[in-house]
Amino acid sequence: MNADDQVYHPGEVVPQSGIYQCDCGQSHEYSTDVKGHRFPPLQNGCSGSGWKLKTAAHPS
Ligand SMILES: [Zn+2]
Repeated sequence: MNADDQVYHPGEVVPQSGIYQCDCGQSHEYSTDVKGHRFPPLQNGCSGSGWKLKTAAHPS
């Protein structure tokens, strides 16, 4: 599996800062600048199963 295609599920620890997008195709986004947070639940009406990294933040 390509690392870029990894899907993270709600409640999992955020492995790196950046912008994540759900995999339902409706462009629901979640951005965090703090590594170690946990992924939030998917939004109401979202039919996706998890979050994928869209844009990685630059490491500090
Ligand atoms: Zn969604």
